[in-house]
Amino acid sequence: MNITVTKSPASRRAQANLENAAFGEVFSDHMFQMEFRNGGWREAKLLPFGPLPMLPSISALHYGQIVFEGLKAFRQQSGAVALFRPEKFYERFARSCRRLAIPSMSREQFIGAVTSVVREDEGWVPQKRGHSLYLRPFVFASESFLGVRASREYTFMVIASPVGNYYKEGVKPVRLTTSADYIRAAKGGLGDVKTPANYAASLLAAEEARDEGFAQVIWLDAAEHRYLEEAGAMNIFCVIGGELVTPPLEGTILPGVTRDSVLALAKAWGLKIAERRIAIDELFDAGEKGTLREVFGSGTAAVISPVGEIRHRGETLSVNGGNIGPLAQRFYDAITAIQYGEAEDAFAWMEKVV
Ligand SMILES: *Cc1c(COP(=O)(O)O)cnc(C)c1O
Repeated sequence: MNITVTKSPASRRAQANLENAAFGEVFSDHMFQMEFRNGGWREAKLLPFGPLPMLPSISALHYGQIVFEGLKAFRQQSGAVALFRPEKFYERFARSCRRLAIPSMSREQFIGAVTSVVREDEGWVPQKRGHSLYLRPFVFASESFLGVRASREYTFMVIASPVGNYYKEGVKPVRLTTSADYIRAAKGGLGDVKTPANYAASLLAAEEARDEGFAQVIWLDAAEHRYLEEAGAMNIFCVIGGELVTPPLEGTILPGVTRDSVLALAKAWGLKIAERRIAIDELFDAGEKGTLREVFGSGTAAVISPVGEIRHRGETLSVNGGNIGPLAQRFYDAITAIQYGEAEDAFAWMEKVV
């Protein structure tokens, strides 16, 4: 791919307070941009990070034709920089685009765009363990047109944000609550693709949960309001008896790359695994019987996020005494060791870019 490079006149790197920045607050010096026009992707550019000139009439602002991704570049022990499973993120991006009637791009264009930002802003990849460069590729309908149909023009961009340890004071299990009033996704909808509409639909519920002292909503299925789907914007795992259980991907759950990585490790370790529906009452029953060992979420930002407590219809379930469980810890340790190049990359997950 031919990329036109316009360098930022001065780097903001030295002034950036990376250690204390919250997730997604600080952005690196450059961004990637490419346009879809006349049936093809063109004008690949690397530019200084900055505001976009755009018309208020572009269709993304009105009808939400947008898809995004989130992946990370890690500083290896050797000093090299590597992306975690970029191919897998590309595949999901392409699937999401199809669902939103957005023309996707080739694997080479997507990974080339991400790589160009990491290479240009290599100095923004933190050195510290637990820190990384979060990459946010996204595409939006950029045709100026208010009629309701798929846009004929799109803009694809990649921006990068150095992020610190998700848990500043060590991994802390979160409290979750179900929502009686809202759902996240229904079958045939957008639940299994990464598009802002899913987030927009979840924000009020998350705010109400927060007002009641919970970190997030534990989403139940839209049809019966009974089966676990996701923990906030993370996939969910339970350890019941001796088995690792996670809901199956049946159209309403986002197929997480971290979820896939947890399952791959579990398989390699010879754990008992089940991808099956988990009713919230089964979880509470298991809690009562003492067979519920762990509940945790998985996602790129936190990797593994243990759940210490779940509230449903006024009843509260405490999980593992509110502590992180041994399996959650083991997955966290194994995945991060691969990401930072400390453990053998047995699955060939890391793609070196610098
Ligand atoms: C991105 C996302 C996840 C996690 O996916 P990863 O690929 O593991 O980062 C889970 N649920 C939702 C709703 C998401 O948007």
